[in-house]
Amino acid sequence: MKRGLHTKLVLIMLLLIISLMTVVGAFLIRGVLGFYTNEFYEQMISFFSMPEFVADLRSAADDPEGPAKIGEILNASRGALGINSDSRNYYILDSEFGNPLLSSDPQEDLILEKSPNILTALAGEEGWESSLTQDYMDVALPISGQNNSYIIYIRDNKQTVADLNMELIQIITEALIIGLVISVLLSFLLSKTMITPIQSLTRAAERVSRGDFTQKIEVQTHDEIGVLTQTFNNMAKQLKDTLDDIENERNKLMTVFLHMTDGVVAFSRDGSIMHHNPAAERMLGISLGDKSVNFDTIFGGFVSMDELLPLKSPEYAEFEHNINGMDLEISMAPISGYGAQGGMLAVIHDVTEQKKSDALRREFVANVSHELRTPITNIRSYAETLADSEDLPPDMVKNFLKVIVNESDRMTKIVQDLLTLSRFDSGKADLHFEKFSFSLSVKNVFDAMLMEAKKSGLEMSLEIGENLPDILGDRSRIEQVLLNIISNAVRYTPEGGRISVRAGREDDTVWMEVADTGIGIPPEDLPRIFDRFYRVDKARSRASGGTGLGLSIAKDIVVRHSGNISVESTVGKGTTMTVKLPIEPPVKQ
Ligand code: ATP
Ligand code: MG
Repeated sequence: MKRGLHTKLVLIMLLLIISLMTVVGAFLIRGVLGFYTNEFYEQMISFFSMPEFVADLRSAADDPEGPAKIGEILNASRGALGINSDSRNYYILDSEFGNPLLSSDPQEDLILEKSPNILTALAGEEGWESSLTQDYMDVALPISGQNNSYIIYIRDNKQTVADLNMELIQIITEALIIGLVISVLLSFLLSKTMITPIQSLTRAAERVSRGDFTQKIEVQTHDEIGVLTQTFNNMAKQLKDTLDDIENERNKLMTVFLHMTDGVVAFSRDGSIMHHNPAAERMLGISLGDKSVNFDTIFGGFVSMDELLPLKSPEYAEFEHNINGMDLEISMAPISGYGAQGGMLAVIHDVTEQKKSDALRREFVANVSHELRTPITNIRSYAETLADSEDLPPDMVKNFLKVIVNESDRMTKIVQDLLTLSRFDSGKADLHFEKFSFSLSVKNVFDAMLMEAKKSGLEMSLEIGENLPDILGDRSRIEQVLLNIISNAVRYTPEGGRISVRAGREDDTVWMEVADTGIGIPPEDLPRIFDRFYRVDKARSRASGGTGLGLSIAKDIVVRHSGNISVESTVGKGTTMTVKLPIEPPVKQ
């Protein structure tokens, strides 16, 4: 590159100098020649148009020594006529044949070629013709006296011009050589001021093309190259910024793509996988990076790509399929411009949980209806009996009315529990946090249950650790939890059993543990006792007034206090329930 531009520069300079010198030389030589020729003719004209001079020559022609006489006259003006034997001579010719009779240069042989001017003079005319290309210039003038006539012929062999031109050529050649040397030196200077910046621009452009934007080129001048360098720096910066932006966007999109919960798989027209995200791999349960996996191996069972390709944006096809034990909702839409002939995009949505919660919701509604129907049926049948039968013994009437009151209480409880739950679900149940004594709450609830326990023939003990701190929480809700746990123990422990309630502190938490010697809970039911309406033994639970909502409400309350509730149980031996609550829960809004 360097050599190329530099050599070209030198060559251009050389050509320029040579052609310039040649043209100047040619004009100079021509100019000198023209000037010299003009001078010659003007000199001749000025002499030979002087009437006295011509008259002298004519009278000399009549002299018997004509040529000698004419020669004398001409010799007298030798200097003014520029006659010198080397380059300019005069000749006296006879007017009949043009033979030379006398010459200014005595050394010279009197042999003359017949120039066009001599021929003109032989014809009696004056010969002044001259051409620049001839190697001589001449005039031939006929001089006629009364009797004799001669021709005066003056000829210049251009020797002076030739000498002058030789001198000129020498000067031009020397100037040329000096010019060439200067041009070579100048080309180095030019190379430094022009080619060096271009070279650094080229190197920078090469670096940029390799993706290296770190180095800036220094702007050293304010000319066009300086502007170009500045523009290049700006362009490189712009390019880097744009590339950074694109990279950022790509990273953002990639992050979204990688971490989105929906699975995405893009197929090319031939069915091979172009892109996929980890969610898709997890849902489909196969390695999508595997080359042998394509559209047909994944979805071939229920759809082919050819069926879907005619869809026009924004149309898409939707399928629901159970793959790998998961309920998947799959949307497919053709994509244009993907690969050569477009492709297919599949978005996979896992609806397993949604289906589960739909099922739970249905089950819940069924449970609620069932739970409400039973007391309503009871109330109705007892009320009907009371209305229809007139002579019922007063005891029976009292009993029936008691059942009706119990059943309506039960309905009220169910409705209250449901309201509590729905308030929790909708986030409307405001907890009123306050500082209160946990040990006092445990004691109150224990006391409240003591009577009932006694009635059921149960022994109850209370053991509270010393100096339990006050805790922050919704006192009445917490007492509701404690009450439910102790009442469960009372409810599900047969006569003669024992219930021990203990409370204490552990680090930043307080706990209450209720251990009974009751019927226990089978292991398979343990995980479900916190579900809504779940009861291990429905008949027994209902008989004892249970709806299966108590523990689910308790768990909601405890979780909202950032605490936890756990259970250990052995069928036939007893159950131990433990609640743990932080002394100062982080307040949730
Ligand atoms: P509710 O509390 O709404 O009046 P419930 O007591 O039946 O009704 P939960 O408190 O939610 O409902 O308890 C759910 C189920 O767990 C109970 O029906 C019962 O089968 C079982 N269970 C709870 N506590 C005990 C326990 N201490 N011993 C044995 N089974 C228990
Ligand atoms: Mg209960």
